[in-house]
Amino acid sequence: MDLLLIKNADVYAPKHLGRQDVLINGGKIVRIGTDLETSYGSLSVEVVDASGLVMTPGFVDQHVHVIGAGGEAGYFSRTPEMRISQIVPHGITTIVGLHGTDGTARNIEALYAKVCSLEQEGITARMLTGSFEMPSATLAGSVRRDILFVDKVIGAKTAISDRRSSQPTRAEIEHLVAEAYTAGLVSGKRGYTHIHMGNGKRRLSMLMDIIRETELPPYLMIPTHINRDEGLFAQSIEFAKLGGIVDITSGIAPEYGFEGTIKPSKAIRRLLEAGVDVRQITMSSDANGCMAVYDSQGNYAGLCVTTVETIHKEFCCLVKEESIPMETALQFITTSPAAAIGMYPQKGQLAVGADADLVLMDSDLSIRKVYAMGRLAAEDGVSILKGAFE
Ligand SMILES: [Zn+2]
Repeated sequence: MDLLLIKNADVYAPKHLGRQDVLINGGKIVRIGTDLETSYGSLSVEVVDASGLVMTPGFVDQHVHVIGAGGEAGYFSRTPEMRISQIVPHGITTIVGLHGTDGTARNIEALYAKVCSLEQEGITARMLTGSFEMPSATLAGSVRRDILFVDKVIGAKTAISDRRSSQPTRAEIEHLVAEAYTAGLVSGKRGYTHIHMGNGKRRLSMLMDIIRETELPPYLMIPTHINRDEGLFAQSIEFAKLGGIVDITSGIAPEYGFEGTIKPSKAIRRLLEAGVDVRQITMSSDANGCMAVYDSQGNYAGLCVTTVETIHKEFCCLVKEESIPMETALQFITTSPAAAIGMYPQKGQLAVGADADLVLMDSDLSIRKVYAMGRLAAEDGVSILKGAFE
């Protein structure tokens, strides 16, 4: 089929456009309008009637452990590699793969290969270089060279305020952020640094000092897991007021066994109430991370694996429980993360010229169909896209 025409959807771009038809050609949106024609000369057209369905951009998840993570309770606790069929039914069409605690037994080359394979299988995938270790292994010899010369690398990853981090000094973090930033400038990528936040007492103080005392752009440091506890969350509001972007983890919530955490949808409502701009708030899943759960004495108490579906779940909670308007709730998983990682306007919105990544939901916000680059990727919870061995 040359063209795909989806008719009569209630379109949220994420701005609410009302009932529209969307015409797709070559993986791109080429027209949006009412009552678009169904024939285009000699070109074949597949027409899909989306009456009664809501259309949104595909979701952007900037924190996914695609080759697995965990391992913190011993080798048995390493999570397996993800399959594309675990990703697309939940509306995710763009992901950023990264390392977790272990960047040694899991290597950066394997991460690159996995990201490439997910793209070959049909979604958009990028990666971060680096891991909890500093300095960490890279593909081309340095963070700067990875961002400059490796097509899929768009930024760097590190960890602070966490007993599992390399306990990096402020100078080391400054250098890392500067390297990523400069490489991003030269390569035309975002060159940001995604920073795992633990529950250490230093919290975000190092990053706030860097913002106050250096010239580095605040929005290129994206701390994640900021809903991990009340202390970190409170400081993240201050951080955002200095111009930083804060990333909520949808997979961390009291209902998943993480005591003391803040439910993601509630955290987002509280950030908005505190006056944080929508564009400075993103939500990612931390999918496929295996978290060891410890009791109050620090003894190992069990394992918990995070999944991508929490993004859609928390989006639904934002709309249904927190009464956040759809067009605002969508931004935390579409436009805001796409812009934060430098992939907007190609990703994160429904517009002429943007990639045809889109989700069709029913009136209850259940996902009915997902399209990735104009191809049907999943339908009613079942992945149409498959890996070679699925
Ligand atoms: Zn993670």
